[in-house]
Amino acid sequence: MSDVIAKDDLLRLVDQWLAEGKRVLGPVKAGDGVILYAPLAASSQLVLEGFVHAANSIKEAVFPRSETIYTYKFNGHEIELSDVDPDSTQCIVIGARPCDAASLPVLDHLFNWDYKDKFYNARRAATTVVTVACSEYDDNCFCTSVGLGPAAEQGSDAMLLKAPDGWYEVRAVTDKGTALFNGKTTPAPEIKVPISDGPAKKFDTVDIETFLKNNYESDAWRDITMRCLGCGACAYNCPTCHCFDIVDEGDAAGGRRVKNWDSCQFGQFTVHASGHNPRAVQAQRQRQRIQHKFRIYPEKFGAILCTGCGTCTRNCPVSLGVLNTLEAIAAVARGSIEVK
Ligand code: SF4
Ligand code: SF4
Repeated sequence: MSDVIAKDDLLRLVDQWLAEGKRVLGPVKAGDGVILYAPLAASSQLVLEGFVHAANSIKEAVFPRSETIYTYKFNGHEIELSDVDPDSTQCIVIGARPCDAASLPVLDHLFNWDYKDKFYNARRAATTVVTVACSEYDDNCFCTSVGLGPAAEQGSDAMLLKAPDGWYEVRAVTDKGTALFNGKTTPAPEIKVPISDGPAKKFDTVDIETFLKNNYESDAWRDITMRCLGCGACAYNCPTCHCFDIVDEGDAAGGRRVKNWDSCQFGQFTVHASGHNPRAVQAQRQRQRIQHKFRIYPEKFGAILCTGCGTCTRNCPVSLGVLNTLEAIAAVARGSIEVK
């Protein structure tokens, strides 16, 4: 049994969520024509189709760029600390791609490992994710190479599939998704939207993991990643990258402790207080990024830290992304590229 909703009714529902005080995040066209996930002020801003992937990711819904974790005041020689309540505002992400939603269960491992991050967990519990199954993809997409696909349900609470004549099939995936669309859809047993096969598989993750285990010191890292500028655009827009730094911002009277996004691609990311930097050159930083995503995180948490969204490649000023790097690694492993 399929359930459907007309696009106009869906947009009315978005306006209803906004009127109820919910935060709604979805793809919008920025001033320069780039599609970005951003908070909506009205459903008219929402762009559900006509693009492959937004230039950023939905991780900001659960892991904002900057977040105050407590404040402090100096009273003479005493310090007064004040907790900041986690943000539990109900949030609906609509129009995310399945490769974005799939990052959330992967991030759950990290934010609930040695320390349970109450800020992340509060936002995650308050967030409902409605994805749109992909009907188009580009050369940068490789979801099928990391075990996902155009209608992968991991991390989605409900999924919309574009049906003919201005309708969407609505597939509830979790209780949250069921509750969100309860009473809003129409039964339509005759509608069953076919799922695209998605991009062809481009590499085997087992081969990649084997290469990573055996070639930590390989000169291939230097050759493959030489053009990287260390700008961090790949990490900031990646749905699964989660590096952060904690800094104090304030003056002699007090201030706040803030968690800010960071990136392992920045030259100063690993600089010690002594001045020594164990990752002194960019090739070592790129090696870390790939090793972390395809060997270290899977070994630790049983999940690949990449959903194949291709955002890192699309955003890279020198067209280097995880996909190019993995394809080059696969070619080195096959012997098709010689490392000098
Ligand atoms: S791979 Fe590209 S986007 Fe990432 S740090 Fe290097 S130059 Fe920047
Ligand atoms: S590493 Fe690149 S392809 Fe993988 S999830 Fe991050 S942005 Fe997407």
